[in-house]
Amino acid sequence: MARSKALLNVLNLVNTQELPIEKQFLNDLKASIELQDVKNSRKPSQTYKPSSLHCIRNMEYQRMGVPLLGYRTSNELIGICESGTDRHERLQEACIAMKANNIDCEYINVAEYVKQRKLDYLEVVSQQGNETKLFHKGLNMSFLCDGIIKYKGHYYILEIKTETSSKWWERQGVNPDHILQGTAYSEALKINEVIFLYENRDSCNKKAYLLVVTEPMRERLVDKIHECEEYVANNIIAPKPLDVPKKYCAYCQYSERCKQDG
Ligand code: SF4
Repeated sequence: MARSKALLNVLNLVNTQELPIEKQFLNDLKASIELQDVKNSRKPSQTYKPSSLHCIRNMEYQRMGVPLLGYRTSNELIGICESGTDRHERLQEACIAMKANNIDCEYINVAEYVKQRKLDYLEVVSQQGNETKLFHKGLNMSFLCDGIIKYKGHYYILEIKTETSSKWWERQGVNPDHILQGTAYSEALKINEVIFLYENRDSCNKKAYLLVVTEPMRERLVDKIHECEEYVANNIIAPKPLDVPKKYCAYCQYSERCKQDG
């Protein structure tokens, strides 16, 4: 509701301004992209997401289905997400084509892998193109897996990331922000190694780094989820973690609610 109101305000503002026609068009286009996104958006599921496991309070809000007070997306962010999705699909297709080009790399069907390995705690929710949506019943966690590859006889989870030029040029290893996400995939799929493929959004240059997930890493993650489940079950708001980097709070969808909870 708050998001729709904010958008209507944008539209009203635009309509009352006397702008050149091309500027009016541009403003209307941007407003329409945001309105369409609101129309298409669904209520987020009350499950854990591997990319949002940094803050236990954020995790709890997600599980409780707390409304996103005052939060709204932007047409820029919508476009970045769309172009990221497009590049994911192309890079997945490129990985699939490796085999036909006589490279020892096989793109594994994730749903079949789950069945063959009898990972019964995983539910295959859907398969869209090369992306498989999975639900971990034991951990109440849902996620989209970019893929599993068998490269030179060894299984790896593949995780594709697109990022800004400046971040990409500085990159010298797996982004620390992505380690929990890789750990969650590893815990779910019982594969220890994750290849992160980072693509520069401007130039399409690529870098790849390997994350080796250890048993203690997985245990810490599972303990954190169990701790959060305790807070949810007892209807207690988790304490605000002192070690959450400010950048997470700056982009947190629950920041308004978090402020209210102190
Ligand atoms: S605002 Fe910061 S501390 Fe609060 S829930 Fe979000 S990430 Fe966690």
